[in-house]
Amino acid sequence: MKDLLRNLRFECTGCGRCCTGGGSYVVEVNRAEQRRIQQHLGISWPWFRRRYVFRFDDETESLIMPKGRCVFLDERMRCRIYKVRPLQCRTYPFWPELMNPSAWRAEARRCEGINRGAVVSLTRIRAELAKQQTGSKR
Ligand code: SF4
Ligand code: SF4
Repeated sequence: MKDLLRNLRFECTGCGRCCTGGGSYVVEVNRAEQRRIQQHLGISWPWFRRRYVFRFDDETESLIMPKGRCVFLDERMRCRIYKVRPLQCRTYPFWPELMNPSAWRAEARRCEGINRGAVVSLTRIRAELAKQQTGSKR
């Protein structure tokens, strides 16, 4: 894994594709993240929950994804809550499950920023991975 981490190139183009996906794609969001988004939007908690959050049977929660697009992705493929977006979004594509050669290659078919630009420093990658251990991606 260390060799892989030393050679990952990534440069986001802002295409917005990582905010869309098929049926199993979710944008997990914990309660603290939900609070930040709700306050950022300046709306009530019940309204925020009703309008933007989906709760699964296992009690994890996701932003809703109408027609496979995150509810906060605007028509120009920009995030409407960029400053307060969930950790899952902030750490992409440096997710533990993508830190192996085949998963990284497969993800490159979805994200045009993968394998683009300069090699990302090991320090940054480790920092992104660490955030997910402490705060969870959700
Ligand atoms: S799919 Fe990749 S390149 Fe496009 S916005 Fe998401 S991270 Fe950036
Ligand atoms: S919250 Fe923003 S960055 Fe995250 S999936 Fe939705 S639109 Fe994309």
